[in-house]
Amino acid sequence: MPKKLVILGGGESGIGSAVLGVKQGFEVFVSDAGAISLDVQNELKALGILFEQGGHDLKTILQASLVMKSPGIHEKIDLIKEIRAANIKIVSEIEFASQYTNATLIGITGSNGKTTTTLLTHHLLEQSGLNVGVAGNIGYSFARQVAETNREVYVLEISSFQLDDIYEFQPEVSVITNITPDHLDRYENNFSKYVRSKMRIIKNQSNKQFLVFNSEDPVLVKALNTSTSEVNKISFGFEKPEKDGTYTSDDQIIIQHDNSNTMINTAQFQLQGRHNLLNAMAAVTIARLLKVSKDSIRESLMSFKGAPHRLEQFLKIQNISYINDSKATNVNATFYALDSVNSQTVWIAGGVDKGNDYNLLLPLVREKVKAIVCLGIDNEKLLEVFGPVVETIVETQSIDEAVKIAHKIALKKETVLLSPACASFDLFENYEDRGDQFKQAVRNL
Ligand code: ADP
Repeated sequence: MPKKLVILGGGESGIGSAVLGVKQGFEVFVSDAGAISLDVQNELKALGILFEQGGHDLKTILQASLVMKSPGIHEKIDLIKEIRAANIKIVSEIEFASQYTNATLIGITGSNGKTTTTLLTHHLLEQSGLNVGVAGNIGYSFARQVAETNREVYVLEISSFQLDDIYEFQPEVSVITNITPDHLDRYENNFSKYVRSKMRIIKNQSNKQFLVFNSEDPVLVKALNTSTSEVNKISFGFEKPEKDGTYTSDDQIIIQHDNSNTMINTAQFQLQGRHNLLNAMAAVTIARLLKVSKDSIRESLMSFKGAPHRLEQFLKIQNISYINDSKATNVNATFYALDSVNSQTVWIAGGVDKGNDYNLLLPLVREKVKAIVCLGIDNEKLLEVFGPVVETIVETQSIDEAVKIAHKIALKKETVLLSPACASFDLFENYEDRGDQFKQAVRNL
């Protein structure tokens, strides 16, 4: 009798797991409470995989020997409680797929910088000639790639939701970029729970494996100090570390390892901001651990362009710089955006607030922000915190209007920055939609 794999969620990680499950001899059933796209339905049908949508058939689901839960599904819903009560193992897609590959795995997690660090690491490794795949929030799922391709190395962007359901996942190199408040709604508003979830990435790592971590982050450093993990810990940050670690000095990234230093020039690194230097330090450290040559790293670092919607400097009109940082959906990301601008700024902010503490931004706002355009349905918190410190603060629910207002206020050599510090769902489909509409509105000026 084939083992039964039930897949909850018919998105990319669901269909990828279904493809891999069939290949591994499981009898697969896909169940989604919402609608499954026609493309996915056709693919499932072609593979002879049964599926349901618009609800879950508990009886069928409870026959599973294994359940793969997509990261978007809440732990607290009744269905998950029932499955747990029936003692059926629930795994994430990363856990499931990692069981069926012998490739070297690099797992990158953190509150911010995952995508950028993942893409940069992939770029450094690929340019060096390694046969390397990239997965996570990017492109095809890890599971699908394990089923359909054969790679030496995978660079995986891993959210805390994926980490909540791992058992044996054991990356060769793990990375924690930082831990700052985000997604607390999924962790009962308990920051410690969210921290614990991120730290799970090292839970199975041995003393032959590596963690690359941000030594600038007090929450992360504290969590590591109380951890009993034997993994080799390599720090990155702006200060020279006592032991092995990566740091910066002038235009150099310096990797200090076993009493020798590798220096990599960053003068022509195209990404702006201190946070991107941190991301670069993490990626470069991984590349060195995988024995990529210094020259190859330096060259690839220069040619990396970054991902859209992340501090994307896409246009200058009348010498005013327009920056799209729509992916900044929490305060920490916006902090680094404001930190990186070198001129007076009209800041477009707002959206769905996930419990933000805006006070962290006050010093930067006082120093650099001449006006705020609040782009959200409920802007009360922004008005309350920044009203007393910024002379001009206006509200709108139209991105076109927001851009027109910003354009009127900004002077030559100044910046208009969309970095909302909030999720986008009140006025937009998602952060990409918000960023695309922003860019279009700027082009229409
Ligand atoms: P993630 O995948 O973790 O959401 P991204 O690379 O997509 O991270 O970046 C999300 C937002 O965070 C962007 O606004 C980006 O400019 C900002 N950001 C990127 N790296 C960092 C970092 N190391 N620390 C803080 N913010 C960052």
